[in-house]
Amino acid sequence: MRKKILLGIAGIFVVLVAVVIGRTLAITPVELAGMGQAESIDAEGAAKRLAEAIRFPTISHQRGADPEDLARSDKAFTDFRNWMDQTYPAFREATSREIIGGHTLFYTWEGTDASLDPVLLMSHIDVVPIAPGTEDQWEHPPFSGAIADGYVWGRGTIDNKGSLIAMVEAAELLIKRGFRPSRTILFAFGHDEEVGGGTGNKALAGLLQERGVRLHWVKDEGGVIGHGLLPGISAPVAMIGVAEKGSISLDVVAYSKGGHSSMPSPATQTAIGRLARAIDRIGKAPFEARVDGATRGMIESLAPAVPFFQRMVYANLWLFEPVVRGIMEKNPSSAAQLQTTIAPTIVSGGNKENVLPPEARAVVNFRIHPRDTAEEVIAHVRAAIADAEVSVEPLEGIREASSVSNINGEGYRLIERVITESFPGTIAAPYLVVGGTDSRHYLPITDNVFRFIPIHMGPEDSARFHGTNERVSVVNMGQAVAFYVRLMETLEEVDRAG
Ligand SMILES: [Zn+2]
Repeated sequence: MRKKILLGIAGIFVVLVAVVIGRTLAITPVELAGMGQAESIDAEGAAKRLAEAIRFPTISHQRGADPEDLARSDKAFTDFRNWMDQTYPAFREATSREIIGGHTLFYTWEGTDASLDPVLLMSHIDVVPIAPGTEDQWEHPPFSGAIADGYVWGRGTIDNKGSLIAMVEAAELLIKRGFRPSRTILFAFGHDEEVGGGTGNKALAGLLQERGVRLHWVKDEGGVIGHGLLPGISAPVAMIGVAEKGSISLDVVAYSKGGHSSMPSPATQTAIGRLARAIDRIGKAPFEARVDGATRGMIESLAPAVPFFQRMVYANLWLFEPVVRGIMEKNPSSAAQLQTTIAPTIVSGGNKENVLPPEARAVVNFRIHPRDTAEEVIAHVRAAIADAEVSVEPLEGIREASSVSNINGEGYRLIERVITESFPGTIAAPYLVVGGTDSRHYLPITDNVFRFIPIHMGPEDSARFHGTNERVSVVNMGQAVAFYVRLMETLEEVDRAG
């Protein structure tokens, strides 16, 4: 009897191993190749014009900022717009332009076939300010637009003028060649992305919705071509954001009687004690973590790029999902791909050493995974705290997570194809964007948003993003222009094939 059971188990095991190995072998490992560039592109020219664009200090400011700063930025945006007109005359001629919210530039390059829904290419003009005290650490001043050592240096080169200039360079080149798309191509260049996009892309998306526009797909900033950013993967990986997380901050307030510190209630019943316990309970009630959706797509796409045994795991998530999840949970950046995250960010209470405060307060920020909603987060947190003397209320600025774009649909397949043709040896993989982009404003009028820029970044480059010594290489600018040329040409090819 026992022998039979053992044989049965062994039989199941053999089948299991066969399935695992079969699925692993079905994946062709990626072959590394050089960075190809089929198009003959004037990389130096594109770099020179990016450098000029960098010299406009188009910093976006929160409401209530210093009027002098606002005036300076206002002028920079106007100057940038005039510079665009002069620098890209063919683009200006072939498109119609609308100005939204003061400085967001919206161009329509009308296609020949009005029955096709337009696509939207996005980049933002605005940049974040230079952190006070870091000006001296720049190898070249942040708004000098220096070209040195093969790079264009300055604030906005990566985020996001490099991509903007590459898009317009590509369109300018195609227009001069006599190209006209069948499908209308829209360009939205926001002026307030770094402060929420309210008067720029949000307003524009509302306008398009009023006009009854549906977008075939949208491509915005997001992932980059990473080199050595993922453990165990030597091939460059182009990360395409197919969803983005939401955000909610909860105001957690604990109450108690207060009074003199010489005759306290038990410490756990003071406002501060209750608040500490509440935060502890939130931390001990993590949100569900799973390798699914965009994250599952990412792991499966990376399978061809990893060594055999790792590939065996990646290709068989039906079996090894808990293993992958366990590894990803150990690192905060990969853990953020799996679940809604919990971050206590502000705490306050009490103002005198011998007085018990009647209340103590904390703010906890949650980044909402697409499988959760803001309402569910609130309910989850209230249930975890389970204390009638602690209130939990949402602060303003709730952002739900986005929907997940279809990674088997036409838009994703097109962008993936253009990436692998433009950058041979590069793996394209979908992922979940943990920050926010302006593309979220278009979710009511499209099902497909892809967040990717054709910019190379290595491990030491991520600190340049919103940081010091932001730069993009001249060679990369040429590749980025070629990428957008190919994107528009391939879109046309697919549309013509019907
Ligand atoms: Zn950006």
